[in-house]
Amino acid sequence: MFSPRTGCIAIAGVMAAIFLTVASALAQQSSMPAPSPDPQIAAALKEISAVQIQRNIDQLAGFYTRQTLSSDIPPVGGRGINAAAEWIQGEFQKYSSQCGDCLEVRTDQFLQPPAPRIPQATTITNVYAVLRGTDPANAGRIYVVTGHYDSRNSDPNDISNPAPGANDDASGTAVSLECARVLSKHRFPATIIFLTVAGEEQGLYGSAHFAKVAKAVGWDIEAVLNNDIVGGDSTSGDAQRNPHIVRVFSEGTSSTASAEELQRIRSLGGESDGPSRQLARYLAEVATQYLSAADFHAMLVFRHDRYLRGGDHASFNEQGFAAVRLTEYHENYNHQHQNVRTENGIEYGDLAKFVDYDYTANVARLNAATLASLASAPAPPADVRLLTKQLQNDSTLEWKASPGGLATGYEVLWRDTTAPDWQHAKNVGNVTRVTLAVSKDNVIFAVRALDAKGHRSLAIVPQPER
Ligand SMILES: [Zn+2]
Repeated sequence: MFSPRTGCIAIAGVMAAIFLTVASALAQQSSMPAPSPDPQIAAALKEISAVQIQRNIDQLAGFYTRQTLSSDIPPVGGRGINAAAEWIQGEFQKYSSQCGDCLEVRTDQFLQPPAPRIPQATTITNVYAVLRGTDPANAGRIYVVTGHYDSRNSDPNDISNPAPGANDDASGTAVSLECARVLSKHRFPATIIFLTVAGEEQGLYGSAHFAKVAKAVGWDIEAVLNNDIVGGDSTSGDAQRNPHIVRVFSEGTSSTASAEELQRIRSLGGESDGPSRQLARYLAEVATQYLSAADFHAMLVFRHDRYLRGGDHASFNEQGFAAVRLTEYHENYNHQHQNVRTENGIEYGDLAKFVDYDYTANVARLNAATLASLASAPAPPADVRLLTKQLQNDSTLEWKASPGGLATGYEVLWRDTTAPDWQHAKNVGNVTRVTLAVSKDNVIFAVRALDAKGHRSLAIVPQPER
């Protein structure tokens, strides 16, 4: 007999199942089989600890405020952004002392002149640790993980009221710290930088300074992973919440593409193949490789950021670096940029009790696996070209060998022009030229370098050569 009550429950159950299926399908799953995991990287991921992440987020949320303008307040009584910066520096130094001083702990400090949301000249301090690559031929390649440790409440310039900023963005800061703690126990041929920046909520000032200096001194930053709001807000009863998915936002074409480059991109359909988009696809593949068993997935969003929002990846994009943003699947705006208070029974404020530490730990694992994979892999092949000298139905690609001596072979990737992610991969051996019986008019190609252990470089889309 039909019972309305159980019927409703049954329907609700079916709806929930449909929602979960749709949400899982939304997560980017490459149609190619993922490469098998590197056992050393898989072992390192097991060291990432939700308990450690909880400790770090609780500590950061306990500085009363980490508002950037509070840098004029001496760090007395453990309050203000200077106290937070000192604590982060101390954590990096502690990890370094546990790995034979393997980390170079540094600050990038500058006086920001008055500007929007900076009423008076304000000292801004970025704190970071460098795990220098062990191979002189590859140590110049740099991979960056970053989060912003400043916080805010309802009024962006208010330094008087508490601004715990547990999700935004102690969670991202905790990802940088936990990647540093775990990856500093390992060595990689290329260099990894664990970065925490300030000034984000006032207008990306800290990351803008760091990225400009990096560009000016010629650092070869090949990828930046910006973690901002990765706490997986755990508000009970929020039906749209999904603890299995992190969103990865990326620009489709480079912010620094010239008018001539944009013209070529338009004519060849390259709108979804800039360096940041390739980095996003790399993350999705790493998620499938290392985290599918944990039922954790990357959902690629082909968009620079969410509506009305921005983040530190933009500072790196503007200097021509590949950079993406990781953010929880479903945000709760009552718990961001809000004074801590209760109104009409609703709790507002970015409190640590709303953070899902297991979720942030999975985000940290995805970051660590991506950094370790990239820093272990050969450099990408250089000067990749698609020969278009005559009308032919097959396709010839040429490139210069991956610099640095780590590559033992190359893989050609391709996909339909309408497909979001790579659909085919062909190992072509240790060559720098190949002809495939696939029409270049119908697909998008890329080439990446491989080593003997299966580490893969970022993919490089060829330029046409006539
Ligand atoms: Zn933020």
